[in-house]
Amino acid sequence: MADQLIRATAADGGIRAVSTITTRLTEDARQRHKLSYVATAALGRTMASGLLFASSMKRRGSRVNIRIKGDGPLGGILVDAGLDGTVRGYVEHPDVELPPNAQGKFDVGRAVGKNGYVYVIRDVGYGYPYSSTVELVSGEIGDDLTHYLISSEQTPSALMVGVFADGSGVTAAGGLLIQVMPKAARDESLVELLESRFASLKGFTPLLQAGNSLQDIFEQLLGDLGLEILPEVQMVRFHCGCSHDRVLRALKLFSPMELQDMIETDKGAEATCEFCGSVYQASQEELRELLVELEEKAE
Ligand code: ZN
Repeated sequence: MADQLIRATAADGGIRAVSTITTRLTEDARQRHKLSYVATAALGRTMASGLLFASSMKRRGSRVNIRIKGDGPLGGILVDAGLDGTVRGYVEHPDVELPPNAQGKFDVGRAVGKNGYVYVIRDVGYGYPYSSTVELVSGEIGDDLTHYLISSEQTPSALMVGVFADGSGVTAAGGLLIQVMPKAARDESLVELLESRFASLKGFTPLLQAGNSLQDIFEQLLGDLGLEILPEVQMVRFHCGCSHDRVLRALKLFSPMELQDMIETDKGAEATCEFCGSVYQASQEELRELLVELEEKAE
């Protein structure tokens, strides 16, 4: 099934649900960054979470940044996701591989580490972005971001994200987020019912692998609770807004001496975008133009 995101409500708007399939974009990220299995799972889970987080924002152009920094060998994870369905991200050490954990799953918890922080920044495009930090719970990402939503954004939430990959690449990835709005959160029996249903799910990727659509998954969880699935099926994809021009502008941060050295010693410059792995070349001629601009500004 194509990568996509759909939204639903239930209990007269008291429950908000959003779900996404991110199989292809996770495979895209795996290839771009040459990710190990465990790095694919870690970044894939975080990218699905980013898209789910961004999906509830209202203003066009809104974006969410999720940074996870644990004490495990993978180093930091950074994801940038938009309400428009675009997402990009990277991990600090993409080649770190670990044996599966006791449940036979990718050992994301050990790769990320249990000690550290989750930083989330919500940017609606004007004013100061809203940012908040919580400590990691397990490093498994789903748990950590659920904890973030409950403790920092104070919304009863259940988040499930998963990535399945084998020798042929990523074959299933995505996630599900259910949030209980304040008016429904007072109904403890409803919250308990949702919790028990959510706990009975054996993970998100098994649901996809069993052939369920996102609509089917919503039906199973919320079908008897006044489920309304919104008609829009939003496409989601890996996309980075970097460009040759942006990289050239970034080169202006170097000193004239450093630029001169790039021109004479390196015969140009090469820059790689951390987010998407694109490589940009700046020619000697382009560097000379930058140098002239910088010198004009200095006078
Ligand atoms: Zn890029």
